[in-house]
Amino acid sequence: MIRSSRSQEVFERNREFIPGGVSSLNRVAPPRLSFARGKGSRMWDVDGNEYIDYHAAFGPHLLGYACDEVVAAVRRVLDEGVELFGSGATELEGELAALLCRNIPELDRVVFLNSGSEATAQALRVARAYTGKDHVIVMQGGYNGWHNDVACNVMTPLADVGPRRARDEYPVLPISAGIPLEHRSLIHVVNYNDLESVEAVCRRYPVGALITEPVLQNIGVVKPQPGYLAGLRALSREHGFTLVFDEVKTGFRNGFGGYATVSGITPDLVVYGKAVASGYPLAVLGGRADIMGLFEERTPGKRVLLAGTYNAHPIVMAAALATLRLLLDPDRAIYAQLEARSQQLESGLRLLLPELGRPVTVTRSASAFGVYFMDHEPRDWHDILEHHDMALDEALRARLVEKGIYWFPLATKQVSISAAHSTADIEITLEQVRAAVGELARERQTVAG
Ligand code: PMP
Repeated sequence: MIRSSRSQEVFERNREFIPGGVSSLNRVAPPRLSFARGKGSRMWDVDGNEYIDYHAAFGPHLLGYACDEVVAAVRRVLDEGVELFGSGATELEGELAALLCRNIPELDRVVFLNSGSEATAQALRVARAYTGKDHVIVMQGGYNGWHNDVACNVMTPLADVGPRRARDEYPVLPISAGIPLEHRSLIHVVNYNDLESVEAVCRRYPVGALITEPVLQNIGVVKPQPGYLAGLRALSREHGFTLVFDEVKTGFRNGFGGYATVSGITPDLVVYGKAVASGYPLAVLGGRADIMGLFEERTPGKRVLLAGTYNAHPIVMAAALATLRLLLDPDRAIYAQLEARSQQLESGLRLLLPELGRPVTVTRSASAFGVYFMDHEPRDWHDILEHHDMALDEALRARLVEKGIYWFPLATKQVSISAAHSTADIEITLEQVRAAVGELARERQTVAG
């Protein structure tokens, strides 16, 4: 067992003033650890245990913890007194906007917000304003934030999801109390990779927007089947809804920009977050000039409100500029390096995990991985619910955390590599995977015998 008494103390102390002791429920999974420091591929908890990290704080740390160039850029802003003034435009926000729009074809215009949830909320609001239609389609097993439109049907158990539905929607199952019933009637949940259900919903309701992660990455890595994203693009034209790619997780993992570039499918609106600013609180909403133009529309009643005390905070702008310049730097070749390490991990996992004596499927989208104990690549959450061995998944993760390899200890969660992971880090990781697999396989045999 790892030492965790101080971690537990932090939880207990915090609980007196913070419900549950922690500021995001998503961060709670056993063993409840409290982390203190991170550098490169490593992080340390308050008891002094060291981990090679594959969680990346749910995605932001594509460059690893405390990347020198990012820290230096933030420090410069602080030293030079570039404060938040809350009045007028800043040079930094203009610089970042230009860098994004000049390098990413699907962006004519961008706005800056503080979190992925804020940006997806604004995306849906501007989509509704543009189309004049209030209904929204979301994906079963997709996560797009905590607000009323999207906080539903992420990792819903099979008993609640019920039988697979074809050419149909699923009931909206909120992951939060307090969402008005009336509001739920505007939301329609369909399976990912299922174009026929999107079409069926569009025939029944005035759909103004469809929002999806282009690759589902909150339940591992579930990829679009050939033609799926193109099919969504075609349906959006046919039925007049705004196609929103939520690239909060996929963004900047596959290359500069999002999965849109990889797939060749251009959405109307796109949202980035996480990796765009290496862990500083930034989300970007961008897309077509005519839709984004609604943020500056002069006709009364037509303008979409863009406001926020902290929007485009200079510290965050500087962190994003430093991050994106590194990603664009041909001498650093960050994507080539990430690909090499990712291949190393992938081939090791494919070799070692079958020793558990269960079917295994490793999915990978660039430096993001899904590991499923089932005999095929999952096509949607329903498929995972029906076939994946969740208990074995959690047992493996728990064992790896004990061995200093931090895979987030909740079944199906994505495993991510950063540019700070070295060949040696991956070798150590694979040794620990081998040890964990050996122990679990022996225990399973003993139980079976
Ligand atoms: N969209 C996706 C795809 C996400 O993964 C997340 C966060 N996990 C969000 C939106 C919400 O972002 P935030 O937590 O920054 O509000």
